[in-house]
Amino acid sequence: MDVKTLIEERVQTLFNLSLKDCSDEQAYVALLSVVKELLEDKKTIEGDRKVYYFSAEFLIGKLMSNNLINLGIRKEVKELFEANGKSLAEIEEIEAEPSLGNGGLGRLAACFLDSIATLDLPGDGVGLNYHLGLFKQVFDHNKQCETPNPWIDDHSWLIPTNKHYTVDFKDFSLKSELYDLDVLGYKGNKNKLHLFDIVSVDEHIVHDGIQFDKSNILKNLTLFLYPDDSDEDGRKLRIYQQYFMVSNGAQMILEDIKKRGISLTELDKHVCIQINDTHPSMVIPELIRLLMQEGLTMKQAIDITSKTCAYTNHTILAEALEKWPMYYLEEIVPQLIPIIEALDAVASERCADEKVAIIDSNKTVHMAHMDIHFGFSINGVAAIHTDILKDTELHDFYKLYPTHFNNKTNGVTFRRWLLSCNEELTAFIDKLIGEGYKEDANKLEELQKFVDDDAVLEELLAIKQTKKEQLAHVIEAKEGIKLNPSSIFDVQVKRLHEYKRQQMNVLYIIYQYLQIKAGNKPAHPITCIFGAKAAPAYILAKDIIHTILCLQQIIDNDPEVSPYLKVVMVENYNVTYAESIIPAADFSEQISLASKEASGTSNMKFMLNGAVTLGTDDGANVEIHEFVGDDNIYIFGAKADTVIAHYQNGDYHPQDVLANDPELRKLVDFIVSDEMKAIGDQECLYRLYNDMTNKDWFMALLDARDYIQTKEQAIADFNDRKAWAKKMLINISKAGFFSSDRTIAQYNEDIWKLK
Ligand SMILES: *Cc1c(COP(=O)(O)O)cnc(C)c1O
Repeated sequence: MDVKTLIEERVQTLFNLSLKDCSDEQAYVALLSVVKELLEDKKTIEGDRKVYYFSAEFLIGKLMSNNLINLGIRKEVKELFEANGKSLAEIEEIEAEPSLGNGGLGRLAACFLDSIATLDLPGDGVGLNYHLGLFKQVFDHNKQCETPNPWIDDHSWLIPTNKHYTVDFKDFSLKSELYDLDVLGYKGNKNKLHLFDIVSVDEHIVHDGIQFDKSNILKNLTLFLYPDDSDEDGRKLRIYQQYFMVSNGAQMILEDIKKRGISLTELDKHVCIQINDTHPSMVIPELIRLLMQEGLTMKQAIDITSKTCAYTNHTILAEALEKWPMYYLEEIVPQLIPIIEALDAVASERCADEKVAIIDSNKTVHMAHMDIHFGFSINGVAAIHTDILKDTELHDFYKLYPTHFNNKTNGVTFRRWLLSCNEELTAFIDKLIGEGYKEDANKLEELQKFVDDDAVLEELLAIKQTKKEQLAHVIEAKEGIKLNPSSIFDVQVKRLHEYKRQQMNVLYIIYQYLQIKAGNKPAHPITCIFGAKAAPAYILAKDIIHTILCLQQIIDNDPEVSPYLKVVMVENYNVTYAESIIPAADFSEQISLASKEASGTSNMKFMLNGAVTLGTDDGANVEIHEFVGDDNIYIFGAKADTVIAHYQNGDYHPQDVLANDPELRKLVDFIVSDEMKAIGDQECLYRLYNDMTNKDWFMALLDARDYIQTKEQAIADFNDRKAWAKKMLINISKAGFFSSDRTIAQYNEDIWKLK
């Protein structure tokens, strides 16, 4: 039966209505039920060797649109709904976005699962089923407030399984429940994302936003992703979560191996565990423990585990490399202690230097060190990032294990970040070069032949205009804010972090505001769009949000300025929002302090959708720069080696910059001006001001002047529409390398070796 008939009949069976007469909600429920069945019938990818991607986060986004694309039925379904007076886009809106991730690292895990399935490789995700997600961001009095983000309803994609495991902690045991999500590849075969949960979790213990009793593990274990770790109970809760995740995952893997009749001494030949950052690192001692329970010697268990596990590093920020006091582990998972001590002993035999120790002299356990000593591969996520790991941050480890280090530059799935979120551009590319690029992204290069084709360039601009108008509608509906779609859409959307330097963008906005007040209008009206969540305990990040929202208000209320400059920070930036913001962007702000952004992936999504990058030579921007050339990207700021030298010499002082640049001082001073203080919270504004003028750890002032000048140049260039469209086209044509299909093919070739 064709899919149209299936859906029509399903509406009839479920609601006794025709598709024309049912509500959008009913149409969604019927569609979901049909799609779930279609997924059920799809073949599971099998093979002798399988990868398990362990990750605390999977920021998967809504699933309907991608599933329709990968089932190859999106067009038919769209037509069916249109014929019945409905819009597929509006029906897709109804789905709640699973809130299982935080930012780039979690979104990468989701793109990877899509590409693993698309390449027909056997590979599953392993994570936790957080009921209330990270948090839902709302703004109140220009400040971020956190509320729960429930997403599991009667119509979720979660498939209950009958699998249960027991996880032992020091004082109690927990029985797990496993839910699965189908991950369908573009070729039509599927893998799974395994999400572990407990029955006793209780959402009612949450009060006053996202507060809850952090010591009540039986009720709180799978409530939230990254619970506040600013106190000891919060930190211990994270250990409970991490151990619960990895113990379940390891038990599931061993059960499967035994069921297949494979000897556990052969585990490494059939299984690869990719450890996504340090949150799942305890899988190493846990797997060793479980193998020993099955009768292997410790030496055998260590050997096999080391040949099974591979580690991906996502950051050089020291504070993000997890380390846990030994006594936490003693209080929560004492069974791991003798194993971690044994691993530490083996590691110190290989190298006695405390810098590479697993347990340091303060009795702190360094999770990344365990991964590096006892994994067979360690990879960074962009060329410059891997180089910095080898040369600086992890140099001592590199000397020990030079062959273990490798680079895998991140990528994004084009199914979601082009086909699904930008149908207009997809259809246009199809028309120009055919559909081959959907299987082989490098074929986007064929667009090069149109760089001087005026009709093509004009159509590209027209599509961008359409996406900007669509975004303006979305923002008006969601935020009640009207945008001018003929202004430049200048976009910085990503987690709020000092190293990403939203505060430097703030200085630009102040610069532009003061210029307009002084009678100097910008070369083109500009709308600065932000989306960013700050970690609930990250005070300075919240101060930056507060500052942006205050500026937004001041500018909105100033009729002299508002026709030329607008600021909008959207509430609760998530994957769904990204899917409407990114296709509408003219400028892609990638302005992290060089050396600090491991890769970035939104830079790739923007490029693919024809935005031009305004960025530092950091993370994957470096590779984007190489691909598109100087004329099609705006690069500014200090280079990584300069920045690293500043840190090593301790010779960067924001006051030195300010002493030489009175105009820049005026911009910073505006943060605590009367205008700002009249509407803002003085404590927040002064905290940010004092930090920026006295510490400025991520050197925003160092690059601010260059940044402002570069952005002014980009705005001027934007007015030559044809030249700009050429830049857009070249960016799109060079985006093929950043397909996660390429990334996954490389992981497979060098690390996983499946098939
Ligand atoms: C891609 C993506 C990110 C990562 O953005 P970066 O700018 O690379 O840090 C974060 N959040 C969402 C919702 C995304 O889609």
